[in-house]
Amino acid sequence: MIKRTLGAIASMCGGALSDPIFADIGIVGVTKDSRDVRQGQLYIPLVGDNFDGHDFAVSALENGAAACLWQSDRPLPESLAAVPLVLVQDTLVALQRLASKYRDELDIRVIGITGSNGKTTTKDMVASVLGAVFRVHKTAGNLNNHIGLPLTVLQLDETIDIAVLEMGMSGFGEIELLASIGKPDIAIITNIGDAHMLQLGSRQGIAKAKLEIIAGLKRGGLLLMNGDEPLLTDNAELHNMLSAAGAKVQTFGLEAGNDWRAANMSITTTASEFDIVAGENMQDNTAASGLRAASIPLPGQHNVANALAAIAAAIRLGVDGESIRQGLQGIELTGMRIEPVRAYNGAMVLNDAYNANPTAVRAAIDLVAQLDGYRRKWLVLGDMLELGPDEAEMHREIGMYITPDKADAVLTFGELSKQTARGSAEQFGIQAVSSDEAGERAVQSFDDKERLIERLHAQLQPEDLVLVKGSRGMRMEQIVHALQRD
Ligand code: ATP
Ligand code: MG
Repeated sequence: MIKRTLGAIASMCGGALSDPIFADIGIVGVTKDSRDVRQGQLYIPLVGDNFDGHDFAVSALENGAAACLWQSDRPLPESLAAVPLVLVQDTLVALQRLASKYRDELDIRVIGITGSNGKTTTKDMVASVLGAVFRVHKTAGNLNNHIGLPLTVLQLDETIDIAVLEMGMSGFGEIELLASIGKPDIAIITNIGDAHMLQLGSRQGIAKAKLEIIAGLKRGGLLLMNGDEPLLTDNAELHNMLSAAGAKVQTFGLEAGNDWRAANMSITTTASEFDIVAGENMQDNTAASGLRAASIPLPGQHNVANALAAIAAAIRLGVDGESIRQGLQGIELTGMRIEPVRAYNGAMVLNDAYNANPTAVRAAIDLVAQLDGYRRKWLVLGDMLELGPDEAEMHREIGMYITPDKADAVLTFGELSKQTARGSAEQFGIQAVSSDEAGERAVQSFDDKERLIERLHAQLQPEDLVLVKGSRGMRMEQIVHALQRD
């Protein structure tokens, strides 16, 4: 954070100094963690279900905090009577206001990324392609919520040209809030999936919630959205929202008609190559960049789509083709997002155990379907959690999506995934078996991970391919780790 006086901070967050004599104290950053305070920072005590940051204010000050926010409804202990405080109604709202005002004062361009799947991946790609030309700061890890995003904004300073902010949500109004803090110059909607169906009711609801990002766009800004998704392209409100925001839209995707499209894709377990086809209105820009084709060190059409978003953003910002190409080559992702690893016997295992929902699982199945040269393709699928009342049906649909041309064997783990097994057994024209079926085409559901691992150990050959995917709570990476061991 660029240094601010405590007086300025009080007015930015709508609070009051505990004593005006503290107005000139210099603040060099903020933290919500009393154990991790650096000298001269402002400590922001947040209130959670099971903790109250106010309880740790004394220790934050002992650890070097120069001042502290304080929520007025909390009694002030004697020991804090004489220390520099900013009194506010709500420390979380104060943090968000502070970040929003601070953003206004920065001469930095912001790229905000939302979508059901692929936010972190796209964030890493965007940061990588811009990194050759600009000084970039990106959301660390997955800190994409109403707390992580304002804290990320408050980390920015004069050494940064561009901030790449991931914006996550689980209900209406959340993206609007995050976008109103980050005020992106470029907003990206990666896709509309089925995540958070429980809170948003329908895929239409999910699309509406993602489109809230437009409300935060800077005037003259650009929305880059997935043009293969009719819920985005055919949205009746889209153009009104864009013109109210004074913003433009470009689309990316794999289908014809997109402003940025990928063609001639060639996909392996470790890389995807593709040509970049610019729509009519984009050709001048692409020609200027000199970019005709690209390659990413990641498998899957969905990652090609994510890369197109990053390419479009980079071209918008004037990055040259060579820097974009190198940036795409150098992408480093957070783990467990379709990470190729070798099994003990040399078989290829795709570790996609980070998370799962129907869109992401279909993307992963498509990837397996496209990969050639394997003796036998295994799908090892765990439950997709938090899908709401239609969860059983959604699992069954995933099963039905697994036609015999896409994979050879389906092993499921968990109660809901029994429906997946039923659906794929129907497609394979076999009985979903409970155990010990050794046929080439096999579908089997397990309640016990150890049994599933034993089954794989017994039958996995070095020439095989295994995809492992499930919701975070299913801890499917345990299966991957077991396969890596002898
Ligand atoms: P979270 O909501 O947990 O922050 P995220 O949106 O940041 O998720 P990533 O972490 O980038 O998403 O990717 C998670 C998984 O989603 C990947 O492992 C992959 O299976 C899938 N995925 C990534 N991009 C796409 C996409 N464009 N379309 C569909 N699925 C995708
Ligand atoms: Mg993420």
